[in-house]
Formats: sequence, C-alpha cells, structure tokens
Amino acid sequence: MSSAFKISVTKMDFGVSEELTGKVYDTIIIGGGPAGMSAAIYAARYGMSTIIITEEVGGQVAKAGWVENYLGYTRIMGPDLVSKFEEHVKYYNVPIIIDSVENVERDGDLFKVYTMNGDEYTARTVILTVGEKKRKLNVPGEDTYNGRGVSYCAPCDAPLFKGKVVAVVGGGDSAASAALLLTEYASKVYLIHRRNQLRAQKYYQDLLLKNPKIEIIWNTVVKELQGDKLLRKAILQRVDTRETFELLLDGLFVEIGAEPPVDLFKRIGLELSQDGYIKVNNLMETSIPGIYAAGDCVDLTPRDFRQIVVAAGQGALATYSAYNYIIKKYGFNRH
Ligand code: NAP
Repeated sequence: MSSAFKISVTKMDFGVSEELTGKVYDTIIIGGGPAGMSAAIYAARYGMSTIIITEEVGGQVAKAGWVENYLGYTRIMGPDLVSKFEEHVKYYNVPIIIDSVENVERDGDLFKVYTMNGDEYTARTVILTVGEKKRKLNVPGEDTYNGRGVSYCAPCDAPLFKGKVVAVVGGGDSAASAALLLTEYASKVYLIHRRNQLRAQKYYQDLLLKNPKIEIIWNTVVKELQGDKLLRKAILQRVDTRETFELLLDGLFVEIGAEPPVDLFKRIGLELSQDGYIKVNNLMETSIPGIYAAGDCVDLTPRDFRQIVVAAGQGALATYSAYNYIIKKYGFNRH
C-alpha cells in the first residue's frame, strides 16, 4: 500500500503523544469544519507540516440534513459529506486531534496553542476555522429534556421520531432543512417561527409550504418545555397577542442560528466586529500577523450567506496566505 493511503488520522480524547506536541508546525488549524478541512488539504499540498485541532469533526455540516448545493454532490447528507472531507484529509495524512483550544499566544516568532486537555502545540502560523456554536433557546426545560426529546441535530436524531409529532424552532435555512428532513420520519412537523416571514431561501420556502406534513406556527416563540421522563409538550406564546398555548409533541429541534466563540477570540487578542466575528482582509489575514481565519467565524459580508463552498474556499485562501507568510519569513529551508 502506498504511504498516501495510510490512515494516520489521530483522534484522541485525552493528552496526545510527544510526537505531536513536540514539533514546530508550519500551521496549526483550529476547527474541523469545511474551512479547516480545506485549509488542511491545501497545507499538505504546499508541503506544510500541519495538524487540525477540533472539538468535533465536521462542525455544523455534521448536524446538517440534505446538502444539495455543494459542487459535485447533487444530494448528500451532511454527516456523509463530512465523511468525504475526512477521507480527503486522511489521504494527506493530516492528524485530527479532538480537543478544545483554550488560547493562542505569541512566543517570539512562533505561536503556542494551549488546549483543554493540557497540551501545548507550537506553530509558525495559526489558521482559525472554529465556526460558530448553535444557539440555545434558553427556556425552562430545555436542558432537562436535552437528549430526551430536545435535539440540536436533525440528521443525528430524526430517525428516533418515526411516526411521532415533532417541532422545529427557527425560520432560517437550518430550520427549513431540518423540518424537511424530519418529514421523512415524523407523522407531523410543526415549524415555530417568531415572525410572519421566513428567512430561509425561496427554494426551501416552496418545499416547506407544499409539504402536507409541515404546519408553520407563525409569530410564536417557545416559553417552556414540559414532560415527564421525556419531552411531552411545549408552552408557546404568540408575539402579537401574547396569548399562550400548549403544543403536544415528542421532539423539538432547535435551529435558531449560531454564534462565534467570542471569549476565545478576545483571549487571543484578535480584532473583532461588534458582534464578535474575526475581522479579516481579502487574504483572510487577521489583525495579528501570522494568524489567519476562515469560514463562519469571520466578519465578511454577506454574513447571511453561510455556505459550505464559501467556507471551503476561504480555508484554501487562508492557507495560501499562511504559506506565503512562511516562505517570506523563513524561506524554503525552515525544517
Ligand atoms: P439564521 O439564518 O441566523 O436563522 C436563524 C433563525 O432563527 C431566524 O429565522 C431567526 O429569526 C430565528 N431565531 C434566532 N434567534 C431566535 C430565538 N432566540 N428564538 C426564536 N427564533 C430565533 O441561522 P441558520 O438557519 O442556522 O443559517 C445560518 C447560515 O447557514 C445562513 O447563512 C444560512 O443561509 C446557512 N445555511 C445554508 C443552508 C443551505 O444553503 N442549504 C442550510 C443551512 C444553513 P428571524 O428570522 O426573526 O431573525
């Protein structure tokens, strides 16, 4: 078997070996969604030594339903697309370390990357592709029934609701995609949206409105979730009349968008937009020379166009910039 086909992806829950921590990497990629995976492939092809450190492989795509707009795949489930990305990264022998980065600090010309597992990595450049974390509703009962009816991942949990009644909260593309996927399993799917107009693309709106299993509950928010051992009902409130009412259900999927990990960015000292996204220029350079950022965590307009293909493109561009920084600073004989 040629070395290119060796599986060398490393996933660990605890501290990693010195073989991985004791090196100076050309670049450390923080985040394993499409931007990070794409950055890794480009780094490997530039001959840059690299690793991905990520809390989870695939980011938001791993929680997405049918993906129908990523070039080369007419229709593929989010988790299956992530497997394809992972396979591609494995082909280039880039280790993927499952850990959470707590800080990145400058150390002379280099950067130190500190993780929750207590490991410390060193790199000449850093590429941040941490994406965003899903928003929670923050209502009573949400945590109690998390995993007992409340879910944040339709493709992971939709098959558990065969023949059941479920609701999706949100009015964007993620909510629409989750609701449509759920109709393949559930007997009834409510879409609870706080306004009287959807944010989702027209493509999704048309599919939602003509699906007989879907009923949209407009101008309504979730106030509380109740049940016994399992979720049984949601207490809803109309935003216009303030009227509250109960909705009996077996499952509730929260799809109300996501937010970047602002605290981490502040610790690193990056310049941010007012709402906490990393400021980058058109080369994906952040305010700190040697640190690049790409994907859903960056402040690039239009911000309502979070697409896998955009993240993947930005990841490639971030690596291009990191590579040029390294060649300029260290030349070709840095190892
Ligand atoms: P989003 O576009 O930010 O939409 C979030 C939705 O949740 C909005 O409808 C918002 O209502 C609602 N919402 C926010 N906070 C809420 C709260 N506290 N209570 C109730 N409702 C709340 O997020 P997303 O749908 O996750 O999409 C994120 C990005 O990924 C977008 O750029 C989207 O286009 C992209 N995406 C694309 C695809 C695709 O192309 N196939 C699939 C999924 C996601 P308002 O409308 O009133 O603000």
